[in-house]
Amino acid sequence: MEKTLVILKPSAIARCLVGEIIKRIENRGLFICGMKMMQLDENILRQHYAHLVDKPFFPSIVKSMTATPVIVMALGGTDVVEVFRTMTGVTNGRNAAPGTLRGDFSMSGQANIVHASDSVENAKIEINRFFKPEEIFEYIPANVDFYYGDGELK
Ligand code: ADP
Repeated sequence: MEKTLVILKPSAIARCLVGEIIKRIENRGLFICGMKMMQLDENILRQHYAHLVDKPFFPSIVKSMTATPVIVMALGGTDVVEVFRTMTGVTNGRNAAPGTLRGDFSMSGQANIVHASDSVENAKIEINRFFKPEEIFEYIPANVDFYYGDGELK
């Protein structure tokens, strides 16, 4: 099953939005394959945001992403990377469409509630960064036939 890596950022934890976000994930029919709380540090953020390390705002990213513990999740489902990116919305919450997590809960280009992997390839790298293999579970919910038609779950 395709998987994606999600981080509920300090902006979600501090604002008590965890239940709301998980409710949306479950309502959509995405499967939770791994989930834990952890405290990020600059070392792991330098890996995770390697494409932004040289930006002048990188210290601000570190400050905001280490302000509280985060919850990391691995979600499974057909095309789940693209599905959850669409549910997340564009980077700046002020530009994000209503109905998306950022569009409904964020007014910020930084404190934007969640991280979502942007490609299948990066999702694999990111899940390996945040989870041990034994922390990812490959179960299929018993009622899977009510989420997908025949042959749709890949
Ligand atoms: P996305 O999270 O939508 O995939 P990026 O990979 O470009 O976007 O950026 C990663 C994160 O870095 C953003 O979600 C945001 O928290 C932070 N960020 C991006 N651009 C800025 C900026 N100009 N100023 C402050 N923080 C930023």
